[in-house]
Amino acid sequence: MTETDLKTRAIDAKAQLSNSVLDNLIGSGRGQAKSGKRFRVEDPATGEAVVEAADSAEVDVDEAVAAARAALETGPWSKMKPAERGKLIWALADAIDAHAEELAILESIDTGKPYQEALTIDVAGASSELRYMAGWANKVEGRTVPSSAEGDWLIYTERRPIGVVAAITPWNFPIMMVVRKVGPALAVGCTVIVKPAEQTPLTAVRFGELALEVGFPPGVVNVLLGQGETGAALVNHDGVDKVTFTGSVEVGKSIVGASAKNLKKVTLELGGKSPMIVFPDADLDAVAAGTASAIFFNAGQVCTAGSRLFVHERLREPLVERIVEIGKGLKIGGGFDDGVTLGPMISSAHRDRVDGIVQAGIAQGADLATGATKPERDGYFYAPTVLTGTKAGMDVVDQEIFGPVLCVQGFEDDDLDAVAQQANNTAFGLAGSVWTKDLSTAHKMARRMTPGMVFINLHNFSEPGMPFGGTKQSGWGRECSEDTLDAYCETRSVVVNLG
Ligand code: NAP
Ligand code: MG
Repeated sequence: MTETDLKTRAIDAKAQLSNSVLDNLIGSGRGQAKSGKRFRVEDPATGEAVVEAADSAEVDVDEAVAAARAALETGPWSKMKPAERGKLIWALADAIDAHAEELAILESIDTGKPYQEALTIDVAGASSELRYMAGWANKVEGRTVPSSAEGDWLIYTERRPIGVVAAITPWNFPIMMVVRKVGPALAVGCTVIVKPAEQTPLTAVRFGELALEVGFPPGVVNVLLGQGETGAALVNHDGVDKVTFTGSVEVGKSIVGASAKNLKKVTLELGGKSPMIVFPDADLDAVAAGTASAIFFNAGQVCTAGSRLFVHERLREPLVERIVEIGKGLKIGGGFDDGVTLGPMISSAHRDRVDGIVQAGIAQGADLATGATKPERDGYFYAPTVLTGTKAGMDVVDQEIFGPVLCVQGFEDDDLDAVAQQANNTAFGLAGSVWTKDLSTAHKMARRMTPGMVFINLHNFSEPGMPFGGTKQSGWGRECSEDTLDAYCETRSVVVNLG
C-alpha cells in the first residue's frame, strides 16, 4: 500500500467509525449495553473522538456469561473434536492475515502507534501466536498413574477446559493481548468473554466478528465493551471460572481480591521495571541501538520496557550520549504520518501521570539529559526522556512509568553479585537484559537475575513458544508456550476398579 493509499484508507476508516457505534458481541448478536450508556473512544495522536462504544454493566455481563456458559456446556463447541478446534483457530489466524491492513489501521487509530509497527508487530504477532496455539488443540493430553495400592486399578488423568474465561486486556498491544489469552483458552476448549481496555476496543470487536465469520459457534468468543466497572463485574461474577488479566499491579491485586468470592483461577501479567546491565566490553553501537529501542519502542508503553539502565562507568558517558541522540532523532507523530517512529501516550491522563513522575524525579535529584517535555502539538505525545544519577528510592526508579523514560545509573564494581543486587532491587520481576561479549559474564549474570525473562545482548523479545511472564509483583503464571495451557485446564483424575 502506498503512503497516499494508507492515508486515504485511514480517513475512510475514521469516517466509517464516526458514523457508527461500537457494539458488544454476545453469542451471535451485536448490540449496545442494555442501559444505552456509551463511552467515548479517542485517537490519542489527535485527541479527536473516534467512536462511541457500549458501556456494559452487570446485566450485560450476565448475558455474556450465559452465552459463554451455554456454548461451553451444550451445542457444537462442547462436542467438537480437538483437531476441528485447531482448524478453526488456524482459520482465525488466516482471517487476521487476510484483514491485516484493516486491523493495523484500526490499531493505529486506537493507540496512535505507527501503522507499520501495528502491521508488522501487533497484527503479525497476533496471527502467529494463534497459529502456534492451533497446533496445541489436539495435544492436550493426560497421563496414566502407576498404582501401588492393594488391588487392581487403572488411574488416568484428563485435562479438561477450565470453563468460562474472562480475558481482560490492556491498551498497549490490543489485538495481540487478546489473542495471547483467547488462543490458549480456545485450544483447550474453553469459551471466552473478552473485555478490552476502554481506550482500545476497536480490534477486539473485529476479532470477535472474524471468529464468527470463520465458523466459531456463537457464544464461544464474546466481546464486552465498557469502562473499569465492566471488568470488575466480570471478576465478581460467579459464572466466570477464570480471569486472565494484563494491566496494572493495582488492578491485578483488586482482581485477586474479588476472585476470592468464588475462588476463580487467575493469571496476571502486570508489567515491570526491567533492568539492562551493560558491561564495559559490550559493543557500544549495538548497545546504544538496543537499549534505546528497549525504552522508546511503543513510546515506552511496554511491560518489558528496559527502564533502568545500569552501565559500567567506562561506557556510561558515550552510551548516554548516543541514547540521547537516538531519542532526539525519533520522529514524533500520528500513526499514519510519513516515517514516524514515536507515537503518543495512550491518553491525556496517562501523559500527565508520566510527566508527574518525571518531574518528581528531577525534584528528587535526578539529572535531565534530554526530554521531560510535552511537545507542542495536538495529541498526547511525550518527548523521549533520559535521566541520569538516579537511584533506588526515587519514584522514577521504583515505579513503573510506562512511558519513554530511561533512568541511568553507573557502576564501577566488577563484582557480579553487587551489580545483580542493584538490578534485582525492585518490586517487579518481568524482564532484564545483560550486554557483554563475554559468554561467562552473560550466563553468570543471567543466573543471578530474578526476572522471569532474561535477554542477552537484546531486550524486548517475545515468541509464541517462549514462556512469557514474571516473578514478584510482575504477576502470576506464564503466557505463550505450552506452559500457558494448564492455566486454562483443570486436571481430572479417573480411577477404575479393575476387580
Ligand atoms: P488498568 O486499569 O490496569 O487496565 C487494564 C485492564 O483492566 C483494562 O481492560 C481495564 O478496563 C481493566 N480494569 C480496570 N479496573 C478493573 C477492575 N477493578 N477489575 C477488573 N478489570 C479492571 O491499566 P490502566 O489504568 O489503563 O494503566 C495504568 C498502568 O497500568 C500503566 O501506567 C502501566 O503501568 C500499567 N499497564 C501495564 C500493562 C502491561 O502490559 N503489563 C498494560 C497496560 C497498563 P478499563 O479500561 O475499562 O478500565
Ligand atoms: Mg483504567
